[in-house]
Amino acid sequence: MKTLAPVIISSIYGGLLPKRMAKLHPDIVDSFYEIVKDVKKAGGKLIVSDMFRPWEVQVDLRKRKPRLANPPGKSYHEAGLAFDFDTGRLGIPMAEFHRIIRKHGWEPIRSESWHIQHPLGTVGYKTIAEAIKDVGNWAK
Ligand SMILES: [Zn+2]
Repeated sequence: MKTLAPVIISSIYGGLLPKRMAKLHPDIVDSFYEIVKDVKKAGGKLIVSDMFRPWEVQVDLRKRKPRLANPPGKSYHEAGLAFDFDTGRLGIPMAEFHRIIRKHGWEPIRSESWHIQHPLGTVGYKTIAEAIKDVGNWAK
């Protein structure tokens, strides 16, 4: 069992990302800060809108945005393996940003330009469910 690591990061909410959301899987939190550092070095700024989602938040999100959000048990956000960011305020070309995130082991997904996730395999999981259970966020 892994304990999620707290993250300090600017958010779209006018300050730091709220604590309940500001968490990542402990094995990848360092790589996230490397991304933040490299984006800054390139002249941009990473402003986050979403990161960790507790199970009940994913349930609620799925209810409100069924076409956009995965059902609970299927989102990388629930395992602390994803973040969403403000593409409009990134300040560097998206291609440059993708080069940076890939360098640190993360990947974009084609359907959601604002969503970045960390592949499961390189943190030792076969399924998202396995990762979510490992961070203690499965349905109570
Ligand atoms: Zn996302």
